[in-house]
Amino acid sequence: MDPMLAGKRILLVITGGIAAYKSLFLIRRLKEAGAELRCILTPAGAEFVTPLSVQALSGAPVYRDLFSLTDEHEMGHIRLTRETDLVVVAPASADFLAKMALGRSDDLASTVLLANPRPVLVAPAMNHVMWAHPATEAHLATLVTRGVMIAPPGKGEMACGEFGPGRMAEPEEILARITDFFTSDAPLSGRHALVTSGPTHEAIDPVRFIANRSSGKQGHAIAKALARLGARTTLVSGPTSQPDPAGVSVIRAESAEDMLAACLGALPADIAVCAAAVSDWRPSAAAPEKIKKGGNTAPPAIRLAPNPDILYELAHAARRPGLVIGFAAETSRVVENAREKRRRKGCDWIVANDVSHGTGVFGGDSNTVHVITADGVEDWPKLTKDEVAGRLAGRIADHFATSAA
Ligand code: C5P
Repeated sequence: MDPMLAGKRILLVITGGIAAYKSLFLIRRLKEAGAELRCILTPAGAEFVTPLSVQALSGAPVYRDLFSLTDEHEMGHIRLTRETDLVVVAPASADFLAKMALGRSDDLASTVLLANPRPVLVAPAMNHVMWAHPATEAHLATLVTRGVMIAPPGKGEMACGEFGPGRMAEPEEILARITDFFTSDAPLSGRHALVTSGPTHEAIDPVRFIANRSSGKQGHAIAKALARLGARTTLVSGPTSQPDPAGVSVIRAESAEDMLAACLGALPADIAVCAAAVSDWRPSAAAPEKIKKGGNTAPPAIRLAPNPDILYELAHAARRPGLVIGFAAETSRVVENAREKRRRKGCDWIVANDVSHGTGVFGGDSNTVHVITADGVEDWPKLTKDEVAGRLAGRIADHFATSAA
């Protein structure tokens, strides 16, 4: 899964050319990334790859015929473009580029392109003499002035045995251009977000530790939501059973001290969201060997030392992120305590929630939060943790859109 491509609706048009086999790899990569694919195979394209291969790999019906009663019944050619975020033509033959430039519409693929209001990326593939022909150059120039994006062909030995530019760009490169297209559109693209999540484990001895009930659900959901909005996201996670969110780089940390080192090492960042339930104390010295129960000796006393406050440290770091957000799990006077915490820790926003017994927040799927900023308090309704994450990420994107940060 790639958060930038997950759920993106891509219409892939496969025209005639030996490079059509590479489009099968592109289909696989797009599916792995979580994109929703629809494919059109032109009659010439079907000479190189079979509709069955395209259908089996894309997991969706393949559209081929402008006048097919079945295709039109299931999905009219106009709807094919309306329900699409990006049209990709790969391979784009010299003939198909000419048709696009001229606005011809004598088959399903060219009609769809003419009726299409959505952005288009083409990956030309043809013999090098055809590629260099002034007619092809003129058609491409026309398409570029209309805003069509080009994944230029590479140079190399061609299927016809000749050598030169005209080989379709590799599937990886086309995929990178598709990702770039969606990323540059995303509100947090170009930003680096740092998120802490989960509990910390503070060693008593090699087998025992002090921990807490944090599941990491909320922090992981926030990392995922920020990545989905285009932020390069680093998640510093304490020990949890949460799966790594797609498209997020995860650094594992055991103790508060590990977590702080990982966070400082991940700077600079534009955004820091401290959602981890960091242990306030740790045993002042972890025993190097397992502490023996012993016969009748008294239970050992564990001396505690305070842990570093990661949120405080990030809010006061020389390379302080532009927006530092903390969480406040409270059991009474939720908003008042959180306001005070915001001041004490020096962060910009505090997301406060009531975790008193019976609210089911710890380990549960929902959360009722209050967001405290310099401007006041926003009371959010009861939401799932994924919804809180999505809303918080959206609020962060709005912050950057409206401030000069
Ligand atoms: O002081 P308290 O633990 O209630 O503060 C909660 C906020 O501070 C959370 O954002 C938590 O991630 C952060 N925190 C931290 N390092 C600590 C303690 C809390 O980053 N040692």
